[in-house]
Amino acid sequence: KYHEEMAKRKKLHNIVQETKGNIRVFCRCRPLSKVETSSGCKCVVDFDGANDGDIGIINGGTAKKTFKFDRVYTPKDDQAEVYADASPLVTSVLDGYNVCIFAYGQTGTGKTFTMEGTERNRGVNYRTLEELFKIAEERKDTVTYNISVSVLEVYNEQIRDLLATSPSSKKLEIKQAGEGSHHVPGIVEAKVEDINEVWDVLQTGSNSRAVGSNNVNEHSSRSHWLVITNIIFHFSMEYLPACGKNGLTFIIFFSMLCIMVRAKNLINGDCTRSKLWLVDLAGSERLAKTDAQGDRLKEAQNINRSLSALGDVISALASRSSHIPYRNSKLTHLLQDSLGGDSKALMFVQISPSDNDASETLSSLNFASRVRGIELGPAKKQVDTAELQKVKQMLERSKQEAKLKE
Ligand code: ADP
Ligand code: MG
Repeated sequence: KYHEEMAKRKKLHNIVQETKGNIRVFCRCRPLSKVETSSGCKCVVDFDGANDGDIGIINGGTAKKTFKFDRVYTPKDDQAEVYADASPLVTSVLDGYNVCIFAYGQTGTGKTFTMEGTERNRGVNYRTLEELFKIAEERKDTVTYNISVSVLEVYNEQIRDLLATSPSSKKLEIKQAGEGSHHVPGIVEAKVEDINEVWDVLQTGSNSRAVGSNNVNEHSSRSHWLVITNIIFHFSMEYLPACGKNGLTFIIFFSMLCIMVRAKNLINGDCTRSKLWLVDLAGSERLAKTDAQGDRLKEAQNINRSLSALGDVISALASRSSHIPYRNSKLTHLLQDSLGGDSKALMFVQISPSDNDASETLSSLNFASRVRGIELGPAKKQVDTAELQKVKQMLERSKQEAKLKE
C-alpha cells in the first residue's frame, strides 16, 4: 500500500513537472555595488513585473524592453528563496532524470554567488546536495543511492580535473561508453556519504581552480566550472519477499518500482544512474576591441565558441534537428547525455542593474529568452488547464493522505 502510494505521488509529481517544460530560465539581478553607487551608477532594471516573471531594462535612457522568464529575482531575494525554486529538480535527479543547472551572464553579475555562494551564504551547489542527501535518507528503505562527486574545469577547450592531486598533468578526453553515455576516463569521482564530505570536496575543487594562474578572478571568469554528481541506484531486496510468493505480484511490484524511479536501464539489466550537473559558466561579456590580441583573444574566442555552442545545441534540440552539434565544444560534448532526451535543465541568467552594464545585460537577456522560448526533449504533452488542475488536486490530496498516515 505504501509503495503504491509513493508511486502514485511520484507519477503525479512528474506530470506536474513535465507540464512546465524541460528547460526553465530564472533571471537574477544583483544589487548595485558600493563602488557603483559611489561612482554615480544608476539602476536601469525595472522590477515592477517581477512577480509575474517580467523584467524590464531601460536602454539608452528612454526605451524600455521587457523580457519574460519563469521567475525573476530582485536584488532583495536571498539564497534560500532562489534555491526554493530549483529544489524540485533534486527530486527529479533521484527519480532517475539527468539534470543541468547553469549560471549564465557577464562577469561580476553573481554567477558564482548563486552557484557556490559563500560559507555564510551558501548557494545552489551546496543546498542541492544537502537536499539530495535528505531525500536519499527518506527513501532508504526502498532504494539506496551511491553518490559521488567530480569537479571539472573547462578552460581554453581543455578539461582539468580539479580533484586530482596534480590537476594539470594529464590531458583529459571525453569518451563514449555505450549508447548515450559519455564519460571522462581517469577523473576523480569522490564517493561521498554525507553532506559534510561534500563541502570538503567542493572546497578542494574551488581551491584548485586558482592553482597555476596569476589572477584568480580573471581565470575563473574565463573558465567553466562544473560540479558533477553521479548517482547509482540500488534497490533493497528485502522488500521483495514481502510481496508474497505470487510471481505476478512480484512483477507488478518490480515494474512499479522501475516506473517510480524511471529505471529504464534496470529493465534492460543495467543498473540505474542519473547525473546532476551544476555549472558556473565563463563570463558571457564580449571582448573589448582594445584587448583583442594574443592569449586574451584566444580565451575569448573559446568562451564565445562554447557559449554559442550551448545556444546552438538547445535550438537544434528544439527544432528536433537530426543532428545536434554537441561536438562543437567541450562544454556541450560533456553535457551531451544531460541535454535533450527527457533530462531537465534550469538556467539562471545573472544580470547587473547598472547603467554601465546595460548593453551586456541586454545581450544576456536576449540569449536567455531565446533559450527559454524553446522546449527540450520529447513533445510536450498537451495538458489543458482543467486536467492540470485535476492533477494538482490529486497531488495535494495524496500528500494530505500521506501526512495523515504518518
Ligand atoms: P560572477 O561569478 O558572475 O563573476 P560573482 O558571483 O563573483 O560574479 O559576484 C560579484 C560580486 O557581487 C561578489 O562580490 C558577490 O558577492 C556580489 N554579489 C553577486 N550577487 C549578489 C547578490 N544577489 N547579493 C549580494 N551580493 C551579490
Ligand atoms: Mg565567478
